[in-house]
Amino acid sequence: MAVRAGLIARWRARLPVGPRTPVVTLHEGDTPLVPAPRLARRAGLGPEAVWLKLEGLNPTGSFKDRGMTVAVSKALEAGARGVLCASTGNTAASAAAYAARAGLRCVVLLPDGAVALGKLAQALAHGAEAVMVRGNFDDALRLARGAATGTWALVNSVNPHRIEGQKTAAFEVVEALGRAPDYHFLPVGNAGNITAYWRGYREAGKGRPRMMGWQAAGAAPIVRGRPIPDPETAATAIRIGNPASWKEALAARDESGGLIGAVGDAAIFAAYALLAREEGVFCEPSSAASAAGLLAFARRGGFKKAPKGVRVVLTLTGNGLKDPKSAETLPSRVRRCAADPAAFRRLLGSR
Ligand SMILES: *Cc1c(COP(=O)(O)O)cnc(C)c1O
Repeated sequence: MAVRAGLIARWRARLPVGPRTPVVTLHEGDTPLVPAPRLARRAGLGPEAVWLKLEGLNPTGSFKDRGMTVAVSKALEAGARGVLCASTGNTAASAAAYAARAGLRCVVLLPDGAVALGKLAQALAHGAEAVMVRGNFDDALRLARGAATGTWALVNSVNPHRIEGQKTAAFEVVEALGRAPDYHFLPVGNAGNITAYWRGYREAGKGRPRMMGWQAAGAAPIVRGRPIPDPETAATAIRIGNPASWKEALAARDESGGLIGAVGDAAIFAAYALLAREEGVFCEPSSAASAAGLLAFARRGGFKKAPKGVRVVLTLTGNGLKDPKSAETLPSRVRRCAADPAAFRRLLGSR
């Protein structure tokens, strides 16, 4: 099998595709799983305990591509003429790219003013028609669900083909580690991904991690046990007040003996900076909720009874380049210099 042939080619037997399904792929999946020794030390664990699944290295820069290759292939097979989605940004970027490749129309509904710049740029570059909804993601999803009839295919994670595609990330983790990890940390927004990983681990049949999902404190409906009408967080990818896969997320939590917790924006942004500065990994703020969750769980003594050789995987869901405005909040050093060698030498010598 060619390296990075795309996840339908790689996992076809475990996916809902047949010989007549037209495969729409950008050769997504097969993302790196890299150790994070400094983060592990901060969590009081050994240097080989914590691993990062770098989903920001998918073709459009987020894990959404895994679900989209299957959803758009199936939409094309079913005779759809266009795809429709509500999005906090990454679903739109991904749908737009795969629709462009499939020759389908793409309409994306976005919460006005709450989408990272790079994600909007991607969707527009791929020719998607953007609709800015005066409301939040939950409002946009309601509109999308209501309009997805006839030749429009809805490609949000309420589309079961999205979850099927996304479960392949768990297959890859099991393949890389030789077994399932003991814990899997990830951010939770609409809760499709936690649902997908849990399904993937069960299907892989090499052990079951505790599923550790993290919401932003200002957008934590599952933690609070009720929908949040006005979710607020600077981690816009998880700014969701009424997750579509709420029930499935609870099942993943309870069946795995895991938990779904909340982390504040300050902790999320601290973890975002830490990953960039100490691990060399630039993810988007929402992705860093998994690392913030890891540190919060460790601080509470969550790993006290963890076995020696414990394996912990964190999904870093999206690429930091998507959100330049958030990157501007990171501590940085910029100095100006004349185009003059002596001036530059002086500057290098000073701090
Ligand atoms: C979509 C997304 C999430 C949330 O995933 P859900 O499946 O909606 O829970 C988290 N981080 C990033 C970067 C995303 O794009």
